[in-house]
Amino acid sequence: MKKLVCAGEILVEIMAERIGQSFLEPGPLVGPFPSGAPAIFVGQAAALGQPAGLIGAVGEDDFGQLNIDRLRALGADVSAITSHKGHATGTAFVTYLADASRHFVFNIRNSAAGLMAIDDAARHLLADADHFHVMGSSLFSDKATDVVLAATAAVKARGGTVSFDPNVRREILQVSGMRAALDKVLAETDVFLPSGDELFLFSSAGDEKGAVDDLLGRGISCVVLKKGADCAAYHDRQGAVALPAFPVEEVDPTGAGDCFGAAFVSMWLRGAAPVDALRVANACGALAVTRKGPMEGIYRLADVEAFIARAGTRA
Ligand code: ADP
Repeated sequence: MKKLVCAGEILVEIMAERIGQSFLEPGPLVGPFPSGAPAIFVGQAAALGQPAGLIGAVGEDDFGQLNIDRLRALGADVSAITSHKGHATGTAFVTYLADASRHFVFNIRNSAAGLMAIDDAARHLLADADHFHVMGSSLFSDKATDVVLAATAAVKARGGTVSFDPNVRREILQVSGMRAALDKVLAETDVFLPSGDELFLFSSAGDEKGAVDDLLGRGISCVVLKKGADCAAYHDRQGAVALPAFPVEEVDPTGAGDCFGAAFVSMWLRGAAPVDALRVANACGALAVTRKGPMEGIYRLADVEAFIARAGTRA
């Protein structure tokens, strides 16, 4: 089975308990939940049975241990996650506002996450990697960007493939060097996984079809569009297929795109037909939103298949 690797931020998420709760005054919180887009991605891929490892750094503290324990329990390779004494694991405090938007207080750049590096353990993990996945959010500092670009180049150099979820807010594109780094990643990308209007961050075409054609024309093998509770669509140079999202009650949207991406890439690496990869990805994205906490909605392949079978029976 092909092995995938991701590199990036590992953190815990702590949530305001009530919708609309402000962080400008004390209030009840829930968590800590293991989190960080690359950790969610690797955890979901491992849960589906894909050999998967993460390059990252945590503090030598309970929050770091929580993440390592969870990833290990899901079956991920944690050998390239380093623990650093005297540094704290990254945190994200999140409160859900009444309009369903989210407000975050992040501490990632100055956390242990910023210490990730291509050390011996990371080199060892990459030595037989078949695939590297890039999260745009992981380019949070020059050093982190260097790690991601070096890992991308290493996997490509041995004939591997790359997937890319831009997962990036427009403001971040203003950060110096960010645009160039994202463009470098895109130039190496085989599987591109934008959500919402992220597609238009990478193409000046005026509509979706034009932007997809533009990207496919630049050497990307396939573009997979995530459209939340609506649908997901796969495009390659041969054609396109779309599937509606599974109807579920959304409790917490964080992590849906990461679980979706991990599932799509895992199935793609196994040579699944696009429609089958899309179905499993849609199921993992839907299951992810049904639980509070970014990694609490990660399920193993047998549970995901049972979910798909139940949904098919109801349809
Ligand atoms: P991102 O988290 O990257 O912004 P989306 O919100 O588009 O991405 O979610 C990724 C995928 O997760 C969707 O394409 C869909 O398959 C699934 N998903 C997300 N939200 C829901 C929902 N409310 N109901 C069902 N599926 C969902």
